[in-house]
Amino acid sequence: MKHAKIPLIVITLLALSCGGSGGDFNLISVEEEWQLGAQISQDVARQVRFNTDPAVNEYVRSVGQRIVAQTPYANLPWEFHVIEDPEINAFAIPGGHVYVNTGLISAAHNASELAGAMAHEISHVVARHSTEQISRQYGLSVLAGVVLGQNPSVVQELAAQIIAGGALAKYSRAAESEADELGVQFMFSAGYNPRGMVTMFETLLAQQRSNPSRVERFFATHPTTDSRIRDVQARIDKLPQRTGLITDEAEFQQIHRRVA
Ligand code: ZN
Repeated sequence: MKHAKIPLIVITLLALSCGGSGGDFNLISVEEEWQLGAQISQDVARQVRFNTDPAVNEYVRSVGQRIVAQTPYANLPWEFHVIEDPEINAFAIPGGHVYVNTGLISAAHNASELAGAMAHEISHVVARHSTEQISRQYGLSVLAGVVLGQNPSVVQELAAQIIAGGALAKYSRAAESEADELGVQFMFSAGYNPRGMVTMFETLLAQQRSNPSRVERFFATHPTTDSRIRDVQARIDKLPQRTGLITDEAEFQQIHRRVA
């Protein structure tokens, strides 16, 4: 056990000294994050009910992979999961696991709205917001045991917190804005109309007025205001003109009917 800890700390120190972007604080290397994600995803799987329709799962996976292909982490394994739940929500855990509720698919009006929500969640993973949060909340001594599988109770706690939309799932305003910004870029380069992110937010705000309990958890973890939507629109306005962007596609409408 002592031997196993040494390389982890070395990797961590390397990651700390090489990861030079701004004031980002992360004690977990990318390799460790993917290991941790595999553990947390097993706990998530015990706490949710998955949609088992192969067409729905395949479409969500294809949208996700198309966006991921535009990110610096395209070469790592990503997994896209569809949760059978009418609540409108999506979330990501460390290590490339992205979860979309059937309620979000059914609330989305077109492919670009689903792509907008997914691009935002994928961007939280790419910007490593979740492991930054975990690093701040837990020290290196706890995390070393967690990543080596010696602390399953912490993994369970992480999974439960993320699902419940607890402290760990709540990102700062700056992190939300970064995920919006990256998400718009990834959508655009993947060929999806980035306007979908704006109209998805508008769809969510409309739901908040008509059916607040359906979006409670989403808004708890993703505070959405008119000014946030204006910021996203301002980023879209700066993009070059491009024709042929996908706003909707037949496959989306097919699975949209299947989850209804
Ligand atoms: Zn977010």
